[in-house]
Amino acid sequence: MTSSPGASRNDRPLLNRRLAEFGTTIFAEMSALAVRTGAINLGQGFPDTDGPEQVREAAVRALRDGRGNQYPPGPGVPELRTAIAAHQERRYGLAFDPDREVLVTAGATEAIAASLLALVEPGDEVIALEPYYDSYAASIALAGGTRVPVTLRPGGGRFSLDLDELRAAVTPRTRLLLLNTPHNPTGTVLTREELAEIAKLAVERDLLVVTDEVYEHLVFDEGGHVPLVSFPGMRERTVTIGSAGKTFSFTGWKVGWITATPELVTAVRSAKQFLTFVSSGPFQYAVAEALALPDAYFTSFLDDMRAKRDLLASGLTAAGFEVYRPAGTYFITTDVRPLGESDGLAFCRALPERAGVVAIPNAVFYDHRDQGAPFVRFAFCKQTPVLEEAVSRLKSL
Ligand SMILES: *Cc1c(COP(=O)(O)O)cnc(C)c1O
Repeated sequence: MTSSPGASRNDRPLLNRRLAEFGTTIFAEMSALAVRTGAINLGQGFPDTDGPEQVREAAVRALRDGRGNQYPPGPGVPELRTAIAAHQERRYGLAFDPDREVLVTAGATEAIAASLLALVEPGDEVIALEPYYDSYAASIALAGGTRVPVTLRPGGGRFSLDLDELRAAVTPRTRLLLLNTPHNPTGTVLTREELAEIAKLAVERDLLVVTDEVYEHLVFDEGGHVPLVSFPGMRERTVTIGSAGKTFSFTGWKVGWITATPELVTAVRSAKQFLTFVSSGPFQYAVAEALALPDAYFTSFLDDMRAKRDLLASGLTAAGFEVYRPAGTYFITTDVRPLGESDGLAFCRALPERAGVVAIPNAVFYDHRDQGAPFVRFAFCKQTPVLEEAVSRLKSL
């Protein structure tokens, strides 16, 4: 036998062709670089402090009381499904039946994968906003779909969606729109007008919509988050994805969910049951308590993140970057061209040595890499002294 690692006996690559284009993610490379150089890691988007103590204690209590230590129910524990439905009602006035219209998942990541695996046939086209969160492309590929990127373009201080371009991207083969607002990595929050147009298009062309709203509690401007499902004709065709990771600063717990019609939930559950079946037992009880926290928690979380955004945004501006001030999320996208650079990937590979900071090149979130070349993303979900130190280091550029 002459097989070697990396090739099977008939010399076929081990990794199947659906996944061949997805090597190790940029986050692994950049986080390793951060460790090797001792640089401040503003690359990967996880908070460097845990969420509320009482939520952590709720998880401990569940564990001790033997709640969730064995397989929880497939759709999620009733306490959490009820809390998710109550949250949608209290925040947005949206009614979902906790028994038939809520499904708990292993983070938003599984919700995205299960939704696409359930709803997409091989050959279907899936429209996604580019730059896109890295798991979208892989999940579309796993489902055998064809991704059709619609590029958010910089202008007027934000990255915006060209609605004509979106309309033109819809073909008879388009099965679904995969949206994300607030948008990672650009920080764009789709406006009420944009959402209304997207909804109109989805209804007109009879499209399903999967909308990733994991940053729903990180909208900095007046008015807050507007769920796409609240627009006319959307309730019957929309899968809305949420997650506890970003809102409560427990990204390791991997508790996410979808809310949708019973038919859509049943379809997505069919895929989900063969991915993880269930997950995060005791954490589900803790997240149920977290979702019921008083408004004061959500307000102070948002105020804290806004202050961090302002600190990092002004530091990056002072260091010479062009800054796209985010309306939502905990990321800032910058343009490195004012620094005399044009290649964000090369810039990010050199930055730890040059300035002791790690960032992520947005080009990896594009099919049209040239469109994303000069953009670099910084995360600000870090302690204030860490951000201050990063800002001071970046001054050397
Ligand atoms: C972090 C993130 C996710 C993944 O959320 P998990 O709950 O950790 O799986 C999904 N979508 C976007 C846009 C994200 O930034």
